[in-house]
Amino acid sequence: MLLLIPGPVMTRPEVRAAAGVDIAPWDFDFLDIYATVRARLLKLAHGTGGTHTVLPLPGCGHFITEAAIRSFIPPGGRLLIPMTGSYSDRMVRLAREAGRDPVPLPIVQMEKAPPAVVAAALERDPTIMHVGLVQSETGSGIAHDIDAIGAAVHAAGRRMIVDAVSAFGALPLDMTAHPEIDAAVFTANKCLEGLPGIAYVIARIDRLEQCAGVAGSWSFDLSDIYTQVVSRGDGRPRFTPPAQIINALHTALDFLEQEGGPAARLVRYTANMRTLYDGMIQLGLTPFVQPDHQGPIIVNMCAPADPAWNLQHFVDALKRRGVLISNFYNTPKPGFRIGCIGAITPPEMAGAVATMDQALNDIGVKTRAGETP
Ligand SMILES: *Cc1c(COP(=O)(O)O)cnc(C)c1O
Repeated sequence: MLLLIPGPVMTRPEVRAAAGVDIAPWDFDFLDIYATVRARLLKLAHGTGGTHTVLPLPGCGHFITEAAIRSFIPPGGRLLIPMTGSYSDRMVRLAREAGRDPVPLPIVQMEKAPPAVVAAALERDPTIMHVGLVQSETGSGIAHDIDAIGAAVHAAGRRMIVDAVSAFGALPLDMTAHPEIDAAVFTANKCLEGLPGIAYVIARIDRLEQCAGVAGSWSFDLSDIYTQVVSRGDGRPRFTPPAQIINALHTALDFLEQEGGPAARLVRYTANMRTLYDGMIQLGLTPFVQPDHQGPIIVNMCAPADPAWNLQHFVDALKRRGVLISNFYNTPKPGFRIGCIGAITPPEMAGAVATMDQALNDIGVKTRAGETP
């Protein structure tokens, strides 16, 4: 089965095998892997030892995003969130339920947030201390130029929290070049091509120390995780870690290195996306996002304007032919979403396009163009 979802992604058999061993979390062999993975991630994010630290939190992407919001923004603190799509919506809710004050910044749907719009919003309202940016908006498929937004936030003297969950491992992130970033968060199971169950933050140590005690949650307090790292040494988890999943990530990072790092992975994902995006347009389908805003992670297509269109029927027909896609969409209007990430290559994407052609025929869809958003 070809899995084309934006996470958990297709993984290599070696990665899955690394999760199939019994491990004691306190065993020194594992503690060495635990520490090594943190160091490898620090390097991938261009962090600087002594300035940045990588901290693990068991669980999913929402958990680490909430942890970053709680740990760096005090209760009542204001967070400007460019409203890029369903993941910015989630950030708003995470902030609000944690008692922080999210300030949604409306932007053009299905487009990147323009840095000048972010800069203007910060200038208008000096009480906003942070910007919360979804680097790759998995809802729409757009991907931001983090350098341009970061520069605007830096110039305004504000801080930034980056949801890099569907970006890290492929799209660029240079923590050393961006001192305005307090924290960037990600998980093992997207562009890192590991398994779900562990999330990480790369964060500034000075800010962790300044913000000690503001989280209002023991489980989600990054400064507490950091304190543990310092007081008990690099290798000792706070609570039981998903040791098998971290072991699998260690193997996945070997493959990322062999591939040539995030820059090389971005080239492959971009080729995957191009094959899919152009191929589906050739099938007569209508994309949600225009080419100059389309990112390399996920492609959204509009629902065909044919009475025979039915997402679940389409998903079932594809599945019978060996391709698995999401049976839901995160766009404001109906459509379908296809991930371009994971252990997959352009020839497989070309095959998936041919399979979609067949599946549309299977369910009797003749008019493939959709209503543009
Ligand atoms: C996948 C994703 C998340 C987190 O999702 P979980 O289901 O909690 O792991 C957060 N932000 C973005 C942009 C994502 O793509």
